[in-house]
Amino acid sequence: MKYESLLQAKRLITKRPYAKDAIYSFIEIQTALHDIELKDIEFNLNEEVEKMKRSEGFPVFSTSNLPFPISEAYPLLSRIVEELIKKDRNDRDSLERLKKLIEDDPSFIEQLYHSVLNNKESENRYLSEKIGLEPSVIEFIIKMSIKPLLYQLRDRLASEIKEQQWEYGYCPICGSEPMMGYLDEDGKRYLHCSLCDYEWRFPRITCPFCNNQDSASMGYIFSEEDDGIRIDFCRKCNRYIKTIDKRIYSDPCKIELEYIATIYLDILAQKEGFK
Ligand SMILES: [Zn+2]
Ligand SMILES: [Zn+2]
Repeated sequence: MKYESLLQAKRLITKRPYAKDAIYSFIEIQTALHDIELKDIEFNLNEEVEKMKRSEGFPVFSTSNLPFPISEAYPLLSRIVEELIKKDRNDRDSLERLKKLIEDDPSFIEQLYHSVLNNKESENRYLSEKIGLEPSVIEFIIKMSIKPLLYQLRDRLASEIKEQQWEYGYCPICGSEPMMGYLDEDGKRYLHCSLCDYEWRFPRITCPFCNNQDSASMGYIFSEEDDGIRIDFCRKCNRYIKTIDKRIYSDPCKIELEYIATIYLDILAQKEGFK
């Protein structure tokens, strides 16, 4: 486990002991993936076309049309499943079943990726039930397994994308929705991609989900126990996004960890009728 990640995890667990298991699972999976030597992927992209597409508001690729074969992610998925099997979890038998499916039934696994990456909820529920795992667990491990591949692409394109204007509420690289946002020390807003973890600048008074710019129908909620992480909501589309305000919470942990550790904010937002 990387020393810095471990320190961050410990700091967060002291603050939010109820999130301990989720935080450790995340760190352990990330560490396991880190140990895998990834070969350089040949991405199926034409850089000139990509640039033109971006200037029109299209992301580099969409999750329904990945620029590499999804089978590249299978060894990573196996590794995650192996890591989880080592734990004393009550869904161990189902994880064993999934491990066997990765070896024996690549078309089933391909279907699984397709349903998770394209947010096909009922299909994901159906496939998860076949394996015997919670859909949220499937979603988590599928997304974790594809991240290292997307990081390669993100790192290759990031500097070029930064030069171009991007004011959309979806990721310029993979087209996914943001999972969380933050305000930096100067109050500038950034969004963090839910799939490839890319971050991009975004206007303060705009809803990333429906582009609403009417400040009267937007607002935020702070939880009582917390300073510095809030729920930004929009009454036009009834969506919400958790946001770290670095002017208050100046030294947050990795955003993915903060996201996992603030499930209570999701519960609060959902109670208020946001999704
Ligand atoms: Zn992305
Ligand atoms: Zn909205």
